[in-house]
Amino acid sequence: MQRTIQCPLPADSDLLKTIRVYNKAVQRVLDIGWASKTYHKNRLHKLSYRDLREMYPKLQSSLVQCARDMASDMLKREKFRHKKPLKRPLSGVRYNQRTFTPFLESGKISICTLVGRKKLPLIVPKYFQQYLEGRITSLTLYYNKRRKKIIAYLTIELPDVPVEDLSSFLGVDRGIKRVAVCSNNSFYPTNHILAVKWRYQQLRQELQSKGTRSAKRKLKRISGRERRFMTDRNRKIAKWICNMPYPCIVLENLRGLKQHSKKKKNLPKKVRRQFGNWAYYQLEQFLIERAEKVGKTILFVNPRHTSQRCSRCGYISKTNRPSPPHFFCRECCFKLHADLNAARNLSDFGKALIGRASVNSPNVAVLPLAETIASLSRGVVLATNH
Ligand SMILES: [Zn+2]
Repeated sequence: MQRTIQCPLPADSDLLKTIRVYNKAVQRVLDIGWASKTYHKNRLHKLSYRDLREMYPKLQSSLVQCARDMASDMLKREKFRHKKPLKRPLSGVRYNQRTFTPFLESGKISICTLVGRKKLPLIVPKYFQQYLEGRITSLTLYYNKRRKKIIAYLTIELPDVPVEDLSSFLGVDRGIKRVAVCSNNSFYPTNHILAVKWRYQQLRQELQSKGTRSAKRKLKRISGRERRFMTDRNRKIAKWICNMPYPCIVLENLRGLKQHSKKKKNLPKKVRRQFGNWAYYQLEQFLIERAEKVGKTILFVNPRHTSQRCSRCGYISKTNRPSPPHFFCRECCFKLHADLNAARNLSDFGKALIGRASVNSPNVAVLPLAETIASLSRGVVLATNH
């Protein structure tokens, strides 16, 4: 598995100059490649190498090669979009293994610049220190204007954790009022989250109606604070979910759906506003990362019928949900918290998708099973159940 760690570097003027020249070189290769419709590294090399060496004599040969590789990747990405890619003077630059050497024990990194190799202090934040035993494969540098610092992104290759056998399934329903409800009857406590979100909401409204310049500044600061709170909470939720003794975690595949539209409708306006913008995508990312780390599998299933199906008898009907917080089955009179019912459905869907033991009801795995199993080794599975 791969992890990227972020470490701040001082805004060294030689390094900044290098970034500028590097970006110019990338742009030059982009121009040449775009004009001649050449995207391949080797062919781009033939077309541009001598040219670049003459134009930027101080840029080391290995950095010229890095720039050419970066341009090639950008061209390949953009070639079907009919828009020539642009490189800004201070946008991110990629270094390969030949152009930098990390000395993590002594907290230093040696980087190629226009004036030769330079050793700079590298501070690895505490959280990232757990990854340091891995092999560092690449480095990307970005200049952060606001912090006046260069940020180093180090990609680290870590050994894969073996994936556990899929013996039991934990369905997790992500909702607006309840961030995460699990099929084993666990609810993530949301009172505090709601209170904090509500406070930020109030503050934001207040400042927006004021509209002065200082209010705008404060607004910006608050948004950063709110975002960090959300990130922290999402990490905690991911940890909370992955710590439960289930090797497979089943989630609704919400990608491509219009931000949860089906669920929002049923809720009072106040709640919708409060929780409408929870960072679900981020939570997904954290869950995937965490699962990879501990050898669990995340299974994404089609969200169809999760809230309308009875988790006891399997009966599906829109009328099964008379009032939002409660689920009530018209067929077998089963009553349950609606989110918990949805979570149990997800667990069922996951089980059916993998085991195919009971494929009697229509909302269960049909085809992508072979692909599902094949991709299991990767830990994360995207699957549809119809
Ligand atoms: Zn029922």
